[in-house]
Amino acid sequence: MSNSARARALRSALDRVPREPMLIRPTPVCHLPNLSARLGRDIYMKREDLSGLAMGGNKTRELDYFIGQAKSRGADVFIAGGGVAQSNHAVQCAAAAHRAGLKPVLVLHRFRAGEIQGNYLLSMMLGADIRFADSDNVDSDVSSKFALRNLMDEVAEEYARRGHVPYVLYSSFHPLGAVGFVDAALELHEQIDAMGCDLRRVYVTAAGATQAGLVVGTRYLEAPYEVVGISYTQDVNGLATRLQRLATDTISLLGLDLTITEEDFLNESYAGPGYGIPTEQGLEAIALVARTEGIFLDPVYTGKGMAGLLDHIRAGRIPPGPVLFVHTGGIPAIFAYSRDILKNLDAMEAVGR
Ligand SMILES: *Cc1c(COP(=O)(O)O)cnc(C)c1O
Repeated sequence: MSNSARARALRSALDRVPREPMLIRPTPVCHLPNLSARLGRDIYMKREDLSGLAMGGNKTRELDYFIGQAKSRGADVFIAGGGVAQSNHAVQCAAAAHRAGLKPVLVLHRFRAGEIQGNYLLSMMLGADIRFADSDNVDSDVSSKFALRNLMDEVAEEYARRGHVPYVLYSSFHPLGAVGFVDAALELHEQIDAMGCDLRRVYVTAAGATQAGLVVGTRYLEAPYEVVGISYTQDVNGLATRLQRLATDTISLLGLDLTITEEDFLNESYAGPGYGIPTEQGLEAIALVARTEGIFLDPVYTGKGMAGLLDHIRAGRIPPGPVLFVHTGGIPAIFAYSRDILKNLDAMEAVGR
């Protein structure tokens, strides 16, 4: 199949999946001239942070398809979870639910719920019915994930008893979430083609559907660049296996003829001490991008992802040619981490950076 025939086949596969448009598309791809000059390497950015919903982010594309499924099932209540009170996912879900005329319900862990800031504030402003799980565990703690699931089911039953039709989104680690980023891979492919850019690598802060979708899309399109996932949690053991399974489910959902192996998933963790805990490298990356390009990254995801990209460039680990960073959003978290950010700025000043 020719390149354009593949793109057309992928577009029609995507068009067969129910979708409720939430995203302002296409999200821009821009060259970052000052950061490129600083690092001696052409760096581009795909701006998923400008997705148009709430304060932007990678969950918007995924919600095209989750809301599409909820609507196709006649739901009037949209129940989603968040591992933390600062969940980007939760805010995007609540905003998308409103746009589609569904009532948003959020089930959250209490981690960092002490201060009403950032995403927690936005969730309240969106008027979501917020329920807290008792546990305040975070990261990959399996039992805490079950606590969230059980509470989501209970809340769904409660709404069903009152005559509603609830839709429960347990997690965006789901083929429909990945379909959103197959869509992004196709969009990116067209943009890169139109720019005549000889892209070598795509970096994305991811350990889930975002990466699985990008890998499926770029592989199907036989794109000449590979996708590297920088993880925001410590544990990357077994991640390639989980992502390969998710990719395979996504491929069968779309009915594509494609095989993805574990080797297609290049992952490295820059989480530092753990999920949601800012790192010095991440905070420095945030300051660098703000002070060269006027673009903000966040301390939980994109700052750590950019730290990974900068580290790979400085260590000479990337083949020559342009690279692209997918900005996956997360901006509201900046305000919930003001103390860590200020502390790092003071430290940078002290050493004259
Ligand atoms: C959720 C999220 C990610 C990671 O996406 P996954 O596909 O779930 O790994 C990256 N960046 C931001 C800002 C996010 O909110």
